[in-house]
Amino acid sequence: MYSEIGKRVTIADAFHSHWQTRAYKDQLVGREGVIVAVLRDGNVALVELAEDGLPFPAGVRRWSFRWDDLHVESAATGPDRLAIKYRAGFTWKRRQAVQHAVPSGKEIALCGKNARPLPICGWSLTFSPTVDRACPICVQLAEAAAQRGDTGDVLAS
Ligand SMILES: [Zn+2]
Repeated sequence: MYSEIGKRVTIADAFHSHWQTRAYKDQLVGREGVIVAVLRDGNVALVELAEDGLPFPAGVRRWSFRWDDLHVESAATGPDRLAIKYRAGFTWKRRQAVQHAVPSGKEIALCGKNARPLPICGWSLTFSPTVDRACPICVQLAEAAAQRGDTGDVLAS
């Protein structure tokens, strides 16, 4: 777990985390950050929120999370393999968020699931095919679209 320091994360939930973190769930879920420390015998990650133009909840930039509440980008991330970008939509499977690729302007993921993008005004996450919990069907379809050079409703990277 200590090797996770420096990795980028997306906050998927605050359900498992400390009540002080949970209290700001609405302002934290969907935001991105970087792991700056691993605490409590590896059970808790201290996340520094990215500068994304939104105010930091309660003016605090660093929040502790249980791992179950975070999407940690895999080691081999680098720049996204796919030049294509979709919005990220989520479904929930046994309390774990599964990330789907949602073409812009749509509410339905590539795989056909009704994956709701996170409820944040004027801002949404970009689908990341490299996260552990990315929907395999969406990843495949996004890759296939990239190979076809299909950039129809896709944002430039
Ligand atoms: Zn999907």
